[in-house]
Amino acid sequence: MSPMAWPTRHKVLLARWDANLLTNNAQLPSKICQFSPKIFAQFLPSLTNSITLESMQTTLFSGKDLAQKILSECSVEAREFESHHARRACLSVILVGNDPASSIYVKKKGETCKTHGLEVIDYHLNPDLGFPALKRLVRELNERRDVDGILVQSPLPKGWDEKEIQSLIDPAKDVDGFHPNNAGVLCIDANKSLESGLPPCTPAGVIEILKAGKISMAGKKAVILGRSNIVGKPMALMLLAQDATVTICHSKTPNLAALCKEADILVSAIGKAKFVTKEFVKQGAAVIDVGINRMQKDGKSIVVGDVDSSSVSGVAGFLTPVPNGVGPMTIALLIRNTLRAARLRSAQA
Ligand code: NAP
Repeated sequence: MSPMAWPTRHKVLLARWDANLLTNNAQLPSKICQFSPKIFAQFLPSLTNSITLESMQTTLFSGKDLAQKILSECSVEAREFESHHARRACLSVILVGNDPASSIYVKKKGETCKTHGLEVIDYHLNPDLGFPALKRLVRELNERRDVDGILVQSPLPKGWDEKEIQSLIDPAKDVDGFHPNNAGVLCIDANKSLESGLPPCTPAGVIEILKAGKISMAGKKAVILGRSNIVGKPMALMLLAQDATVTICHSKTPNLAALCKEADILVSAIGKAKFVTKEFVKQGAAVIDVGINRMQKDGKSIVVGDVDSSSVSGVAGFLTPVPNGVGPMTIALLIRNTLRAARLRSAQA
């Protein structure tokens, strides 16, 4: 029987297979398995155009579980480092001011470090001390042999130059991966940065999620919402290095929804609560929600992503939730970067 005459259920499975949400042929009914990829390719365009796909099952991917797995590996590495060097790998974290969200992030990073066998040195700077005091502290930490990683929590007070601070941190201790040297390595060879360098943690976490979710990237169309130096741009370079065809969108991009709807992989990092609805999502696409937005609900402050999960579920094939999606991965990769920095520095000493 020609695939055109298949029941809708089989056509839906085939469309999901095409979106690489089914990676194992054994999951396909025998009727579909009779066809070689060449024959699939011949029939797919007419199939997906000629039917209205029934509601799709959306796989919610737990970034929390994957982060836990990475952190367990980090614990082992941290113990090994300590036994070889008679000290713990050490992250110093600088918080300037009292921004409530930043304070929570810093606390969480510190706790995770300690739980997994790293040393943490916290600095809480009064903004009244001024920008030069922050620069002095970073220079001091650059010189300290017992400090492997330096993280300056953003945002800094208004008027303080974040880029200057990012460039001041010793690139070998730049566990956020924002120093121009590390950004250069990422630009020239993003896979090398991911495998052995200090890549920015959030987009590196997204790549880990896509790999763990068996979402193939090669030859796929990826659209990224947001062009920041910490998420959007490095995300584009990493996806490009995985052989995806990448489009970056921003606040001046026209026809956003239509562009996004072409994506096999859609990453949203714009900081706009529930902005991405089903009108942005192609059937079966993998949707990665990087956004962290605070909203009031029933008198309580809640955290939501950029993606309206109730709207896109049943359309997306794969979705990361907020919370417990990309967020825990960012922290896990920060710990991994700190251990990497510690190992690389000790190898060069
Ligand atoms: P950012 O520096 O403010 O950049 C936001 C980007 O989104 C900009 O490129 C902006 O475009 C674009 N944008 C804003 N509104 C838009 C719209 N309506 N349509 C299209 N593009 C729009 O933010 P960020 O630091 O990249 O962070 C983005 C989000 O990710 C935030 O919610 C942040 O909290 C979250 N985040 C999460 C993690 C995590 O671990 N899960 C880590 C980092 C960030 P223009 O360039 O044209 O202004």
